[in-house]
Amino acid sequence: METLGETTPGPIPADAAPAPVPDRPEASEPPPDSPEATPLPGPRSRAATRPPSFYGLFPDELEALLESRGHERFRARQILDWVYHKRVREPALMSNLSRALRDELSTIVSFDLPEPAEIRVSPGNDAVKFVLRLNDGSRIESVAMRSRRGVTLCVSSQAGCGMGCVFCATGQMGLVRNLRAEEIVGQIERMLDATDWQDPGFHLVFMGMGEPLANYAQVLRAIRILHDPAGLSIGARRITVSTVGLVPQIERLAREGLPLGLAISLHASTDEKRGQIVPLNRRYSLDSILSAARDYAEKTGRRVTLEYTLLAGVNDSREDAFGLAAWARRLPSKINLIPYNPVPGLPWKRPDEETVNRFVEWLAPRAPSVTVRWSQGGEIGAACGQLGARPS
Ligand code: SAH
Ligand code: SF4
Repeated sequence: METLGETTPGPIPADAAPAPVPDRPEASEPPPDSPEATPLPGPRSRAATRPPSFYGLFPDELEALLESRGHERFRARQILDWVYHKRVREPALMSNLSRALRDELSTIVSFDLPEPAEIRVSPGNDAVKFVLRLNDGSRIESVAMRSRRGVTLCVSSQAGCGMGCVFCATGQMGLVRNLRAEEIVGQIERMLDATDWQDPGFHLVFMGMGEPLANYAQVLRAIRILHDPAGLSIGARRITVSTVGLVPQIERLAREGLPLGLAISLHASTDEKRGQIVPLNRRYSLDSILSAARDYAEKTGRRVTLEYTLLAGVNDSREDAFGLAAWARRLPSKINLIPYNPVPGLPWKRPDEETVNRFVEWLAPRAPSVTVRWSQGGEIGAACGQLGARPS
């Protein structure tokens, strides 16, 4: 299946339309045209191409790669341990490897992480925003947050986003490109290195730039790499995927056998209103999204989070609250209200605190569970939906 000279990552096609992709662990050899295929370089391709990224490989793929270069398979576990557990990325320091492997390793896999173009730390040191530069020059943003509940890492799944939600900074950029699995894993490794916040039980949320389910194959590949016990071993329950509501992909996610947290970005309780602020609603109605979400909750045993960004004068009335509560009662759910974080150049406003509190009072007695998320990181442009915003 291998052809030479194909190891340099090329652009990944948008895969908003569902495409059959095998569950990775069973698929030892993904088809060459699969967006999940990670080409292993043949001997003659070495000089011409960059080695594949370590962060995009499953342990068995690393084993096969090492074997193809004349090293023992068990070395893969040692290298994974150095990188993910001891946080050492320099082959020369991997003292239990053979001398030959230490010398050669950087020509077999690359340990490079996305480079920070900018790092901003909040005044209280509880949020750090990273602007990261990818190999092709694309920029993405990732945020690390720390609170009493522990550490949460917020990652991007795409550079930009093609969904065009009218209030969202990332949505205004359009889609630049999908990220590869290694670029998703790389963001996390970069943040763990840079913050040194010790929380082995940290949470991971796909709430940075992009629509994760529009980059389904690479996002799932990254999640399975992150979930692997030989790597970071992040439990599925500690990972949340947030989606604007791509119904076929929600259905597919329910069949993955991973009890991931699922968050649905609702923002309105009628199709008419939602269609005005979330263009995708013209394709998938509220009813179809919430039916898929209910099915997801049944299959995974997880309550689904309904995210609702409060926009002043748009979706903050009593009628809106009652409508939202009615949807929430249809499935095992919890509601997360996000008072809007203003985006320079966009007309939308955050409701005042009194309006937010009144909305909660209307909602709380009628809905299963309601929390208000006053986003962390507002001062450094790292709050929800501010990613991609240019400084004013
Ligand atoms: N594309 C995914 C995940 C990224 S956005 C999604 O839409 O779900 C994460 C959350 O922040 C979404 O609920 C999104 O609607 C919300 N959001 C976007 N812009 C915002 C802003 N300026 N203020 C508050 N929330 C915002
Ligand atoms: Fe994309 Fe989510 Fe922003 Fe909508 S809210 S444009 S889906 S990132």
